[in-house]
Amino acid sequence: MRVAIGGFSHETNTFNPTPTTLERVRRDGVYVVGDEVLTYYRGTGSTMGGIIDGCDREGLDMVPIFFATHGPSTGAIESDVIHDAANRLARGIADAAPAGILLHLHGAAAGKEIDDPELHILRAIRQAVGSRIPLVVVFDLHANIGLGWAEYADAIIGYKTAPHIDTYELGQQGATLIARALRSGVRPVCRLAKPPILVKSGLMSMSAGSQALMKPPMYWLVQRAAELAREPGVLDVTVAAGFGDADVPESGMTMLATTDGDRALGDRIVAELAQLAWSLRSGFRTDLVLTPVETAVRRAIETAEWPVILADQGNNSAGGSPGDGTAILAALKRAGWPDAALFICDGDAVREAARLGIGGTFAGEIGGKLEPLNGDPVSIEGTVRLLFDGSFIDPHFSLPTRLGLAAVIRCGATDVILTERPSSQIHPQYFRVVGIEPKTRRIIVVQSAHLFRDQFQFREPIGRTIIEVDSPGITNPDARAFMYHRLRRPIFPLDDLSDDEARRSTLGLATA
Ligand SMILES: [Zn+2]
Repeated sequence: MRVAIGGFSHETNTFNPTPTTLERVRRDGVYVVGDEVLTYYRGTGSTMGGIIDGCDREGLDMVPIFFATHGPSTGAIESDVIHDAANRLARGIADAAPAGILLHLHGAAAGKEIDDPELHILRAIRQAVGSRIPLVVVFDLHANIGLGWAEYADAIIGYKTAPHIDTYELGQQGATLIARALRSGVRPVCRLAKPPILVKSGLMSMSAGSQALMKPPMYWLVQRAAELAREPGVLDVTVAAGFGDADVPESGMTMLATTDGDRALGDRIVAELAQLAWSLRSGFRTDLVLTPVETAVRRAIETAEWPVILADQGNNSAGGSPGDGTAILAALKRAGWPDAALFICDGDAVREAARLGIGGTFAGEIGGKLEPLNGDPVSIEGTVRLLFDGSFIDPHFSLPTRLGLAAVIRCGATDVILTERPSSQIHPQYFRVVGIEPKTRRIIVVQSAHLFRDQFQFREPIGRTIIEVDSPGITNPDARAFMYHRLRRPIFPLDDLSDDEARRSTLGLATA
């Protein structure tokens, strides 16, 4: 049975002023066509890796079409990127004439002119191949799913964990589902509901075991979704937390239920979850979980329980920040450069450090140049300790990572790691490749909201104290601090809604 595979992935923080262009995607991202999809992703822990292995295991005859992705450190996507992906996928799939289609679409893409790029892609595919071929989509938990998706996709299934530790499994589950639809007469149908709840990145982390204690609302929602998924006739239930860092009408939480042809059952499930999310919404308040920058740095210096991980919430490169936020850097400087290590993306500074060479004295302003909320540039003076070409394999996804040129500048007892390209330090390997062992340092700053927890907190574990820092920047989780223009209203936490208004404002059941 021939199954076309491919997709498109970008998590778009529309507050990031740097556009996502076709040139950037091709140069800095992944852009693979035909068999290159298999060559690049086979054997990786990514969703595409799971799709490929899952199709192999199911004995499906894969036809790789196209996949493109770019890191989340750029903003709104230019239309030609979206048209290119839609055309390549639609034409490629039509030419392949498959029996089924299995796609990975992140779900939080936002275009400059096209609000819901994934919907655009799905529509193009359906226009090319018609409505009868089963189509399964695997998406990221941080997805802003448009109501229209369910018109074009038969099953829409997403990650259940944050940090995402099930990316590969979901790819495999997608393969299993398309195989069942093709072979055993399962007729997937997906129903959605969108309660009026906006959650920015950093507030939805949860997972199994001890992670449950971190952010109760998401954990409870996902637990209930898992119970509902075990009911007869249900194929998948996913709570898409949403990506409130995108100012588009689709932004916000979505409940999804894929059943075996039972629309009423799907509607009942998503209605219950939407109601549950509404009743738990106060748990998404940022003031309950974040620590001010100065307090965080002071606690990190004083505590006996170290290493301390300072999670830089406003400067999360995995959520759209350009990675040059200086709030914590400035606080470390004010504290007299304690034992710490942190990354700053600054191409000019790192090239200057390279010019000076190892042992040279770097003096200059770094960071704070790429987006206005990220703090001002900070003047530092220190010794260039190490230079590195920045290429290594990220062990979390087994995928190549390129930091560009990297330099370690020692200021007092603080190591500042300058890089040409932004990164989100979700794994200790980011520090180890530049000669820094996180276990031996008092303070490790990560430009990550929650993905770092998988490795730094649960697997190794390194962080004896973890502090989520209320730093400024476009990924700060408090949506109330941002100006939204395109978002649907009313929506929590920007507007006051009664329970009745919330029910009336829940999109999907009446219209999907
Ligand atoms: Zn995500």
